[in-house]
Amino acid sequence: MQTNFTPEQLSDPHVAEAESILRKCVHCGFCTATCPTYVTLGNELDSPRGRIYLIKDMLENGRAADREIVTHVDRCLSCLACMTTCPSGVNYMHLVDHARTHIEKTYRRPLLDRLTRSLLAQILPYPARFRAALKLARVGRPFASLFRRVPGMKPVAAMLDLAPGSLPQAKDEHVTVSGEKRGRIALLTGCAQSVLDPGINAATARLLARLGVETVQNPEGEGCCGALVHHMGKEDAALEAARRNVDAWMREIEGGGLDAIVITASGCGTTVKDYGHMLRLDPDYADKAARVAALAMDITEYLATLDLPEPMIAPGITVAYHSACSMQHGQKITRQPRELLRNAGFVVREPREGHLCCGSAGTYNILQPEIAAKLRDRKVSNIEATGASVIATGNIGCMTQIGSGTDTPIAHTVELLDWAYGGPKPTGIRDVSAPMEETSAETGAETGAMTAAE
Ligand code: SF4
Ligand code: SF4
Repeated sequence: MQTNFTPEQLSDPHVAEAESILRKCVHCGFCTATCPTYVTLGNELDSPRGRIYLIKDMLENGRAADREIVTHVDRCLSCLACMTTCPSGVNYMHLVDHARTHIEKTYRRPLLDRLTRSLLAQILPYPARFRAALKLARVGRPFASLFRRVPGMKPVAAMLDLAPGSLPQAKDEHVTVSGEKRGRIALLTGCAQSVLDPGINAATARLLARLGVETVQNPEGEGCCGALVHHMGKEDAALEAARRNVDAWMREIEGGGLDAIVITASGCGTTVKDYGHMLRLDPDYADKAARVAALAMDITEYLATLDLPEPMIAPGITVAYHSACSMQHGQKITRQPRELLRNAGFVVREPREGHLCCGSAGTYNILQPEIAAKLRDRKVSNIEATGASVIATGNIGCMTQIGSGTDTPIAHTVELLDWAYGGPKPTGIRDVSAPMEETSAETGAETGAMTAAE
């Protein structure tokens, strides 16, 4: 794509980067077919190519963002399906991140929108505040339908709808590394996940301990990865979160040493892996951030590097694997979760349209509830069509979003793996057992699953 930036504009490294991304786009439009908002809304301006044109026009003309561009960029899920599809290697992620920052700096949103966004930015990244907000949401839930009818209050209704009826309590579990020590990792505690489902990281620490890996949790200074504010264009807050985590993990790297920084929410994983880029212009942090980013791994990536023993049980239940966008498009992790589940004795089924987002996308299901609900219903119907007894995925956002639209039990991939390798059965699937026919030859032939019995 031809661009017309002035040398003065290009002296800004952010604009220079945007220009080099724009120049790679050849307008082919292949990306439109896999873009969830284009597929749902059918408007070229809600496709990656349409958004790229809008962003180019805004940046080239040095214009402040206007309502039109804000509407279409806000509707983008940052699912990055377009990056998987693009044959020209257009880095849409960095382009839209820059556009969001530009919007945040140059556009004054309507009052209610501003309030909602700053409320989300002030609550979600902080577990204590988030926990208190969820308790309040229980009181407000009966009024959700009322809020849904008031213009500008739909995000509040969406928050109330998504808030769980009860919160699981974090158990103080002491895990001891068994056998020969094979490694030492830091496990990101995260923000929303630690409140919504502390069992995920508990399962991770248990499983790793049985495999001989020491887990460092909550090193001083570690907090939210910054993804939630990053996707709202609040760049200063995102960079502050990134610096704080880099400092916390660098102390561990230089202290006891770390083989990996393991992340169990793929949305956070995509962001931590991008720390090197986010902090590239900060001379005090560029090298450290690149070092931290290079150590970041999704839990399934890390487990795939270990030599796992035979599973302790033969679960034999059918699992529909939902690959989060941040997993398959953001981090390009596709093989490991499925292989780990199969090798642990699960029968893995693939929902149709696996490339399409479920509508969760950070705060998207709160800020764009109508599109998010359409995507969720489409995802749920594809998952339910597999006939699987359980849904497995590697991102808490997807678990909440998909779980709000189906009665099929849902578990994190690592909870299922922990169970298969000697841990407790995940709470969410306590009532699920393997039907006789699913543990028979039928399932093994269908999926190539290996069970402990084999
Ligand atoms: S990130 Fe997702 S929603 Fe946004 S343009 Fe790309 S494919 Fe479409
Ligand atoms: S597929 Fe890539 S090159 Fe083609 S229009 Fe989309 S972003 Fe541009």
